Amino acid sequence: MARYTDASCRLCRRESQKLFLKGERCYSVKCALEKRNYPPGQHGQARKKVSDYGLQLREKQKAKRFYGLLETQFRNTFEKAAKRKGMTGENLLIMLETRMDNVVFRMGFASSRKEARQLVTHGHFLVNGHKLDIPSAEVKPGSVVSVKPRSQSSPKFKEIRDMSISVPAWISVNVDKLEGSVLAWPRREDIDTPVAEHLIVELYSK
Ligand code: SF4
Repeated sequence: MARYTDASCRLCRRESQKLFLKGERCYSVKCALEKRNYPPGQHGQARKKVSDYGLQLREKQKAKRFYGLLETQFRNTFEKAAKRKGMTGENLLIMLETRMDNVVFRMGFASSRKEARQLVTHGHFLVNGHKLDIPSAEVKPGSVVSVKPRSQSSPKFKEIRDMSISVPAWISVNVDKLEGSVLAWPRREDIDTPVAEHLIVELYSK
């Protein structure tokens, strides 16, 4: 599967916003945005007037990069969101939040969505007792996500047991058991993604 392999921090600098793509580094003074808070490239510091289209494009790019999706995957998710009942923008965010890789990240089992994606692909998780190694799979309310018994002794997961994890309202986690539950579909107010989703809808509706 195609994936973005260039420098992650460039993406945050392009959006002038922390997208938290590199785990702990993002919370430290080493964050590139702390040092160079302007878009990358030769003309990064030039002042530019942004058109309506430019604003819509930036919101779409930001959301895509925040969740670590490429254009086709993101567009396909949007198309599915548009077919669901309710508001398309909200549906889109709910679908992105309930992706398996994002759920693993939100449960605190990975320090970034990128790491979560890798851990899922490597088969470290069970959903309702069955192996699930597809990062894009939707995790529905009532599902229990757990670290596979054989993986629980790895240093990565051992250190999680000593951490205090804060999770959004639609998720609960039992750190000792290395398992979490999806309690409900997330509501818009539960999603802290810094995105104006109506601009994405406007962009794709043209
Ligand atoms: Fe973005 Fe994290 Fe890099 Fe900071 S350290 S620029 S938040 S990816």
